[in-house]
Amino acid sequence: AAKAAGGNTYRFFRQEMLERTTRRLTLEIDLRRAIANSELELHYQPKIDLNSGGLTGVEALLRWRHPLHGMQAPGEFIPLAEENSLICDIGIWVIEEACRQSAKWRSRGLDFRIAVNISARQLESGDLYQQLCSLAHLHGTTPAQLELELTESSLMENPEGVTGQLNQLRQAGVRIAVDDFGTGYSSLAYLRRLPIDILKIDRSFVSDAIADEEDAQIIKTILALGQSLKLAVVAEGVESRSQAELLQTLGCDQVQGYLYARPMPAAELEDWLLEHQESLIS
Ligand code: C2E
Ligand code: MG
Ligand code: MG
Ligand code: MG
Repeated sequence: AAKAAGGNTYRFFRQEMLERTTRRLTLEIDLRRAIANSELELHYQPKIDLNSGGLTGVEALLRWRHPLHGMQAPGEFIPLAEENSLICDIGIWVIEEACRQSAKWRSRGLDFRIAVNISARQLESGDLYQQLCSLAHLHGTTPAQLELELTESSLMENPEGVTGQLNQLRQAGVRIAVDDFGTGYSSLAYLRRLPIDILKIDRSFVSDAIADEEDAQIIKTILALGQSLKLAVVAEGVESRSQAELLQTLGCDQVQGYLYARPMPAAELEDWLLEHQESLIS
Protein backbone atom coordinates (compact mmCIF):
# COMPACT_ATOMS: atom_id res chain seq x y z
CA ALA A 1 0.00 0.00 0.00
CA ALA A 2 2.86 2.30 0.89
CA LYS A 3 4.40 1.65 -2.49
CA ALA A 4 1.15 2.39 -4.24
CA ALA A 5 0.75 5.61 -2.26
CA GLY A 6 4.31 6.56 -3.11
CA GLY A 7 3.55 5.94 -6.76
CA ASN A 8 0.49 8.14 -6.53
CA THR A 9 2.43 10.88 -4.85
CA TYR A 10 5.01 10.68 -7.59
CA ARG A 11 2.35 10.84 -10.27
CA PHE A 12 0.79 13.74 -8.44
CA PHE A 13 4.05 15.70 -8.37
CA ARG A 14 4.73 14.94 -12.01
CA GLN A 15 1.26 16.17 -12.86
CA GLU A 16 1.83 19.33 -10.80
CA MET A 17 5.16 19.99 -12.50
CA LEU A 18 3.69 19.44 -15.90
CA GLU A 19 0.84 21.83 -15.21
CA ARG A 20 3.17 24.44 -13.82
CA THR A 21 5.47 24.21 -16.81
CA THR A 22 2.55 24.41 -19.21
CA ARG A 23 1.15 27.41 -17.38
CA ARG A 24 4.51 29.14 -17.40
CA LEU A 25 5.07 28.55 -21.10
CA THR A 26 1.56 29.68 -22.00
CA LEU A 27 2.01 32.76 -19.88
CA GLU A 28 5.37 33.47 -21.44
CA ILE A 29 3.92 33.37 -24.95
CA ASP A 30 0.96 35.43 -23.78
CA LEU A 31 3.15 38.05 -22.14
CA ARG A 32 5.51 38.41 -25.08
CA ARG A 33 2.45 39.03 -27.19
CA ALA A 34 1.18 41.47 -24.57
CA ILE A 35 4.33 43.58 -24.84
CA ALA A 36 4.13 43.57 -28.64
CA ASN A 37 0.40 44.39 -28.65
CA SER A 38 0.57 47.16 -26.06
CA GLU A 39 -1.59 45.31 -23.56
CA LEU A 40 0.58 46.47 -20.67
CA GLU A 41 -0.02 49.77 -18.93
CA LEU A 42 1.18 51.63 -15.90
CA HIS A 43 -1.08 52.95 -13.21
CA TYR A 44 0.18 55.60 -10.84
CA GLN A 45 -0.36 55.91 -7.10
CA PRO A 46 0.48 59.21 -5.32
CA LYS A 47 2.85 59.41 -2.37
CA ILE A 48 1.94 62.09 0.11
CA ASP A 49 3.80 64.18 2.67
CA LEU A 50 1.80 63.70 5.88
CA ASN A 51 2.60 67.13 7.25
CA SER A 52 1.93 69.29 4.22
CA GLY A 53 -0.47 67.04 2.33
CA GLY A 54 1.64 67.66 -0.77
CA LEU A 55 2.61 65.14 -3.42
CA THR A 56 6.12 63.72 -3.05
CA GLY A 57 5.99 61.50 -6.14
CA VAL A 58 4.08 58.62 -7.68
CA GLU A 59 4.65 54.89 -7.87
CA ALA A 60 4.10 53.18 -11.20
CA LEU A 61 2.32 49.84 -10.88
CA LEU A 62 2.04 47.46 -13.79
CA ARG A 63 -1.30 46.30 -15.18
CA TRP A 64 -2.03 43.89 -17.99
CA ARG A 65 -5.19 44.43 -19.95
CA HIS A 66 -5.63 40.87 -21.17
CA PRO A 67 -7.93 40.62 -24.22
CA LEU A 68 -9.72 37.57 -22.75
CA HIS A 69 -9.14 37.68 -19.01
CA GLY A 70 -9.48 41.39 -18.34
CA MET A 71 -7.24 43.47 -16.12
CA GLN A 72 -4.51 41.41 -14.44
CA ALA A 73 -2.67 42.59 -11.34
CA PRO A 74 1.11 42.04 -11.27
CA GLY A 75 0.85 39.47 -8.49
CA GLU A 76 -0.66 37.13 -11.05
CA PHE A 77 2.11 37.25 -13.63
CA ILE A 78 5.26 38.93 -12.24
CA PRO A 79 6.30 35.92 -10.09
CA LEU A 80 6.17 33.63 -13.11
CA ALA A 81 7.94 36.17 -15.31
CA GLU A 82 10.66 36.35 -12.68
CA GLU A 83 11.48 32.70 -13.31
CA ASN A 84 13.14 33.63 -16.60
CA SER A 85 14.47 36.52 -18.62
CA LEU A 86 10.96 37.70 -19.42
CA ILE A 87 11.10 39.87 -16.31
CA CYS A 88 13.94 41.83 -17.93
CA ASP A 89 11.87 42.55 -21.05
CA ILE A 90 8.92 43.59 -18.92
CA GLY A 91 11.17 45.67 -16.71
CA ILE A 92 12.61 47.56 -19.66
CA TRP A 93 9.13 48.19 -21.01
CA VAL A 94 8.14 49.59 -17.61
CA ILE A 95 11.16 51.90 -17.45
CA GLU A 96 10.62 53.12 -20.99
CA GLU A 97 6.95 53.80 -20.36
CA ALA A 98 7.78 55.65 -17.13
CA CYS A 99 10.35 57.76 -19.03
CA ARG A 100 7.79 58.58 -21.72
CA GLN A 101 5.23 59.59 -19.11
CA SER A 102 7.78 61.55 -17.12
CA ALA A 103 8.72 63.59 -20.19
CA LYS A 104 5.05 64.26 -20.95
CA TRP A 105 4.32 65.43 -17.44
CA ARG A 106 7.48 67.50 -17.27
CA SER A 107 6.69 69.25 -20.52
CA ARG A 108 3.46 70.38 -18.86
CA GLY A 109 5.19 71.57 -15.73
CA LEU A 110 4.22 68.53 -13.65
CA ASP A 111 7.51 67.95 -11.94
CA PHE A 112 7.53 64.90 -9.68
CA ARG A 113 9.39 61.63 -9.47
CA ILE A 114 8.09 58.34 -10.80
CA ALA A 115 9.07 55.25 -8.83
CA VAL A 116 9.18 51.96 -10.71
CA ASN A 117 9.38 48.48 -9.23
CA ILE A 118 12.17 46.32 -10.52
CA SER A 119 13.26 42.83 -9.78
CA ALA A 120 16.81 42.20 -8.56
CA ARG A 121 17.27 39.89 -11.50
CA GLN A 122 17.18 42.93 -13.73
CA LEU A 123 20.07 44.45 -11.85
CA GLU A 124 22.17 41.32 -11.86
CA SER A 125 21.78 40.59 -15.54
CA GLY A 126 22.23 43.10 -18.32
CA ASP A 127 23.05 46.70 -17.94
CA LEU A 128 20.18 48.48 -16.32
CA TYR A 129 22.23 51.59 -15.69
CA GLN A 130 23.04 52.10 -19.37
CA GLN A 131 19.55 51.17 -20.48
CA LEU A 132 17.83 53.49 -18.04
CA CYS A 133 20.08 56.44 -18.87
CA SER A 134 19.63 56.07 -22.60
CA LEU A 135 15.85 55.60 -22.33
CA ALA A 136 15.55 58.69 -20.14
CA HIS A 137 17.62 60.64 -22.64
CA LEU A 138 15.74 59.26 -25.64
CA HIS A 139 12.37 60.34 -24.28
CA GLY A 140 13.45 63.70 -22.96
CA THR A 141 13.60 63.22 -19.22
CA THR A 142 16.43 62.61 -16.78
CA PRO A 143 17.35 59.67 -14.54
CA ALA A 144 16.87 62.05 -11.61
CA GLN A 145 13.11 61.94 -12.26
CA LEU A 146 13.14 58.21 -11.52
CA GLU A 147 13.22 56.09 -8.44
CA LEU A 148 13.70 52.33 -8.35
CA GLU A 149 11.95 50.14 -5.80
CA LEU A 150 13.49 46.77 -4.97
CA THR A 151 11.98 44.48 -2.39
CA GLU A 152 14.04 43.94 0.71
CA SER A 153 14.11 40.18 0.19
CA SER A 154 15.31 40.39 -3.41
CA LEU A 155 17.91 42.99 -2.48
CA MET A 156 19.27 40.88 0.35
CA GLU A 157 19.53 37.75 -1.78
CA ASN A 158 22.66 39.09 -3.43
CA PRO A 159 23.54 42.52 -2.03
CA GLU A 160 27.08 42.43 -3.35
CA GLY A 161 25.92 41.51 -6.85
CA VAL A 162 23.73 44.60 -7.15
CA THR A 163 25.79 47.23 -5.33
CA GLY A 164 27.85 48.24 -8.37
CA GLN A 165 24.84 48.98 -10.57
CA LEU A 166 22.98 50.67 -7.74
CA ASN A 167 25.96 52.97 -7.17
CA GLN A 168 26.06 53.97 -10.83
CA LEU A 169 22.32 54.53 -10.95
CA ARG A 170 22.44 56.63 -7.84
CA GLN A 171 25.28 58.74 -9.18
CA ALA A 172 23.09 59.44 -12.21
CA GLY A 173 20.44 60.83 -9.82
CA VAL A 174 18.15 57.79 -9.59
CA ARG A 175 16.83 57.27 -6.09
CA ILE A 176 16.75 53.78 -4.62
CA ALA A 177 13.97 52.54 -2.34
CA VAL A 178 13.79 49.30 -0.38
CA ASP A 179 10.24 47.98 -0.82
CA ASP A 180 8.26 45.82 1.62
CA PHE A 181 10.77 46.68 4.30
CA GLY A 182 10.50 44.70 7.52
CA THR A 183 9.65 41.41 5.84
CA GLY A 184 13.04 40.46 4.44
CA TYR A 185 15.42 40.07 7.36
CA SER A 186 17.95 42.67 6.26
CA SER A 187 21.44 42.45 7.51
CA LEU A 188 22.19 45.78 9.15
CA ALA A 189 25.72 45.62 7.86
CA TYR A 190 24.48 45.47 4.26
CA LEU A 191 21.82 48.04 4.84
CA ARG A 192 24.49 50.49 5.92
CA ARG A 193 26.67 49.82 2.93
CA LEU A 194 24.05 49.64 0.20
CA PRO A 195 23.48 52.85 -1.76
CA ILE A 196 19.85 53.42 -0.80
CA ASP A 197 17.70 56.47 -0.06
CA ILE A 198 14.32 55.26 1.10
CA LEU A 199 12.74 52.52 3.22
CA LYS A 200 9.14 51.60 2.47
CA ILE A 201 7.43 50.05 5.48
CA ASP A 202 5.55 46.96 4.36
CA ARG A 203 1.82 47.41 4.45
CA SER A 204 1.29 44.38 6.68
CA PHE A 205 2.72 46.38 9.61
CA VAL A 206 0.63 49.42 8.77
CA SER A 207 -2.61 47.49 8.55
CA ASP A 208 -2.24 45.96 12.01
CA ALA A 209 -0.46 48.81 13.78
CA ILE A 210 -3.61 50.08 15.49
CA ALA A 211 -4.56 46.75 17.04
CA ASP A 212 -1.15 45.18 17.39
CA GLU A 213 1.39 46.83 19.66
CA GLU A 214 4.14 44.66 18.19
CA ASP A 215 3.52 46.00 14.69
CA ALA A 216 3.51 49.57 16.00
CA GLN A 217 6.83 48.76 17.65
CA ILE A 218 8.25 47.47 14.37
CA ILE A 219 7.23 50.70 12.66
CA LYS A 220 8.96 52.70 15.39
CA THR A 221 12.09 50.64 14.94
CA ILE A 222 12.09 51.16 11.17
CA LEU A 223 11.62 54.91 11.66
CA ALA A 224 14.54 55.00 14.10
CA LEU A 225 16.63 52.99 11.68
CA GLY A 226 15.76 55.40 8.90
CA GLN A 227 16.77 58.30 11.04
CA SER A 228 20.11 56.86 12.02
CA LEU A 229 20.95 55.82 8.46
CA LYS A 230 19.58 59.13 7.11
CA LEU A 231 17.00 57.43 4.92
CA ALA A 232 13.52 58.70 4.15
CA VAL A 233 10.76 56.38 5.33
CA VAL A 234 7.47 55.86 3.51
CA ALA A 235 4.54 53.87 4.92
CA GLU A 236 2.56 51.93 2.32
CA GLY A 237 -0.99 50.63 2.46
CA VAL A 238 -2.49 53.40 4.58
CA GLU A 239 -6.23 52.83 4.44
CA SER A 240 -7.69 54.68 7.42
CA ARG A 241 -7.47 58.02 9.19
CA SER A 242 -6.49 56.32 12.42
CA GLN A 243 -3.54 54.65 10.71
CA ALA A 244 -2.45 57.99 9.27
CA GLU A 245 -2.73 59.64 12.68
CA LEU A 246 -0.74 56.92 14.36
CA LEU A 247 1.97 57.17 11.71
CA GLN A 248 2.14 60.91 12.15
CA THR A 249 2.45 60.50 15.91
CA LEU A 250 5.26 58.02 15.39
CA GLY A 251 7.05 60.53 13.16
CA CYS A 252 6.51 59.00 9.74
CA ASP A 253 6.51 61.73 7.11
CA GLN A 254 5.45 60.03 3.92
CA VAL A 255 2.48 57.84 3.18
CA GLN A 256 0.83 56.00 0.35
CA GLY A 257 -2.43 54.09 0.33
CA TYR A 258 -6.09 53.84 -0.59
CA LEU A 259 -6.95 56.51 2.00
CA TYR A 260 -5.35 59.04 -0.34
CA ALA A 261 -5.66 57.46 -3.75
CA ARG A 262 -5.61 54.14 -5.54
CA PRO A 263 -3.27 53.46 -8.44
CA MET A 264 -4.80 55.19 -11.49
CA PRO A 265 -4.18 55.46 -15.23
CA ALA A 266 -2.15 58.56 -16.15
CA ALA A 267 -5.15 60.60 -17.30
CA GLU A 268 -7.05 59.87 -14.09
CA LEU A 269 -4.03 60.83 -12.03
CA GLU A 270 -4.02 64.19 -13.80
CA ASP A 271 -7.66 64.75 -12.80
CA TRP A 272 -6.80 63.72 -9.26
CA LEU A 273 -3.92 66.20 -9.20
CA LEU A 274 -6.20 68.99 -10.41
CA GLU A 275 -8.61 68.23 -7.63
CA HIS A 276 -6.19 67.52 -4.78
CA GLN A 277 -2.89 69.21 -5.57
CA GLU A 278 -3.76 72.66 -6.87
CA SER A 279 -0.42 74.12 -5.92
CA LEU A 280 1.32 71.65 -8.19
CA ILE A 281 -0.72 72.55 -11.23
CA SER A 282 -0.86 76.36 -10.95
P1 C2E B 1 4.47 46.98 -4.10
O1 C2E B 1 5.51 47.61 -4.93
O2 C2E B 1 4.74 46.83 -2.66
O3 C2E B 1 3.17 47.83 -4.40
C1 C2E B 1 2.17 48.08 -3.46
C2 C2E B 1 0.94 47.25 -3.76
O4 C2E B 1 -0.05 47.56 -2.77
C3 C2E B 1 0.27 47.52 -5.09
O5 C2E B 1 -0.34 46.32 -5.50
C4 C2E B 1 -0.78 48.56 -4.72
O6 C2E B 1 -1.84 48.60 -5.63
C5 C2E B 1 -1.21 48.05 -3.38
N1 C2E B 1 -1.74 49.08 -2.51
C6 C2E B 1 -1.47 50.40 -2.49
N2 C2E B 1 -2.14 51.03 -1.49
C7 C2E B 1 -2.83 50.06 -0.84
C8 C2E B 1 -3.73 50.08 0.28
O7 C2E B 1 -3.99 51.11 0.90
N3 C2E B 1 -4.25 48.89 0.65
C9 C2E B 1 -3.98 47.72 -0.01
N4 C2E B 1 -4.54 46.60 0.42
N5 C2E B 1 -3.15 47.67 -1.07
C10 C2E B 1 -2.59 48.84 -1.48
P2 C2E B 1 -0.19 45.79 -6.99
O8 C2E B 1 -0.31 46.94 -7.94
O9 C2E B 1 -1.09 44.64 -7.17
O10 C2E B 1 1.32 45.30 -7.05
C11 C2E B 1 1.75 44.21 -6.30
C12 C2E B 1 3.24 44.05 -6.37
O11 C2E B 1 3.66 43.68 -7.69
C13 C2E B 1 4.02 45.33 -6.07
O12 C2E B 1 4.12 45.51 -4.67
C14 C2E B 1 5.35 45.05 -6.73
O13 C2E B 1 6.18 44.28 -5.89
C15 C2E B 1 4.95 44.20 -7.92
N6 C2E B 1 4.94 45.06 -9.12
C16 C2E B 1 4.04 45.97 -9.52
N7 C2E B 1 4.40 46.56 -10.67
C17 C2E B 1 5.60 46.02 -11.00
C18 C2E B 1 6.52 46.21 -12.09
O14 C2E B 1 6.33 47.06 -12.99
N8 C2E B 1 7.66 45.44 -12.09
C19 C2E B 1 7.92 44.54 -11.10
N9 C2E B 1 9.06 43.82 -11.17
N10 C2E B 1 7.09 44.34 -10.07
C20 C2E B 1 5.94 45.06 -10.02
MG1 MG C 1 6.67 49.16 -4.79
MG1 MG D 1 5.54 47.28 -1.08
MG1 MG E 1 4.66 44.23 -2.19
